Amino acid sequence: DVAHLDGFDHHEQVWLGRDTARGLTAIVSIHTTVLGPALGGTRIWPHISFEAGVIDALRLSRGMTFKSAIAGLPLGGGKAVIIADAKKDKTPAMLEAYAEMLNTLAGQYITAEDVGMTLADADFLAERAANVSGTTKGGSGNPSPFTAQGTFVGLKAALRHRTGSDNLAGIRVAVQGLGSVGWSLCEKLQAEGAVLTVSDLDAARTARAAEKFGATVVSGDAILSADVDIFAPCALGGILSAETIPRLKAKIVAGAANNQLATAEDGMRLIERGILYAPDYVINAGGVINVAAEMAEGGYSVEAVSPRVEKIADTLTAIFQRADREGRTTDAVAEAMAREIVEAARK
Ligand code: NAD
Repeated sequence: DVAHLDGFDHHEQVWLGRDTARGLTAIVSIHTTVLGPALGGTRIWPHISFEAGVIDALRLSRGMTFKSAIAGLPLGGGKAVIIADAKKDKTPAMLEAYAEMLNTLAGQYITAEDVGMTLADADFLAERAANVSGTTKGGSGNPSPFTAQGTFVGLKAALRHRTGSDNLAGIRVAVQGLGSVGWSLCEKLQAEGAVLTVSDLDAARTARAAEKFGATVVSGDAILSADVDIFAPCALGGILSAETIPRLKAKIVAGAANNQLATAEDGMRLIERGILYAPDYVINAGGVINVAAEMAEGGYSVEAVSPRVEKIADTLTAIFQRADREGRTTDAVAEAMAREIVEAARK
């Protein structure tokens, strides 16, 4: 039933891999290969229906086109969804069957980790298929430090655009989620004198943050209405909505979480409240920039990655300026810029 797919633009290819004996139902969506092979992680998630899995793969692969194009990478957009519960259904046999599927897509699709897939799974797949990135053996490994670095420089670019200075001393920042990215972001913010408010579902993490960073801890969604200058979502998607945006006191939203806007209209809601939003897939591209470095001639070199991640600040500044000039949301401008890059390459 393709009625669900109305509103999705053209995707070059969508592949279904099915092996009932080994428990695999996988969808690989290749949105574009105009700039290079389509890179995007494999998400293992127990979708309630096949259609829901396809729609997730279509949406996520398009997002990867935008993310890589705007980060200036020679990569297209792709994403895979394996419909399964990673805790119960992820077996070596299932991953072996998936590795066979990946081999048939070599040259067009490159995978990496996503929700439900670990570094160990990536290593397992890489022993069986060539088109696996983000592995620990000879690969680029954990992307989170680079995602945090990009988020940090992006947050400062937003502050500079808003206030004319990126001096963080005394600037109040609320960080939601103290995982791999959120924690590392807090370290950088605190080192430059920011005053932190934090939340996490894990009480041990917030207690550590109070001790190490002198952070104020708030629980639940009180982080949304914290009296701060900047809100940095580093946990969940869909956090910016008709319900939450009116509660924000921050004048800047700059964080690493994926898919922060619940709907496209929420970009406009932020403008109406005078809040500057750093589009998520621009500010959190440090991880994919790190993975892309694996494809460089001569192989992965960590030294080459940081300067490229730092450029996220310039990209965001260009987006903020164009959004001001054109009276559009930063999200709409980022998507337009990504599409322009792809179309220029297509021509
Ligand atoms: P993580 O799983 O290491 O950390 C997430 C943290 O958020 C956990 O500590 C969790 O307890 C906390 N959390 C979950 N729900 C919460 C809630 N309602 N309130 C407060 N805290 C909550 O994840 P991560 O790798 O740090 O990634 C964080 C976000 O950034 C995710 O949205 C992820 O998709 C996105 N992202 C991460 C990377 C990367 O390189 N890791 C790259 C791009 C985007």
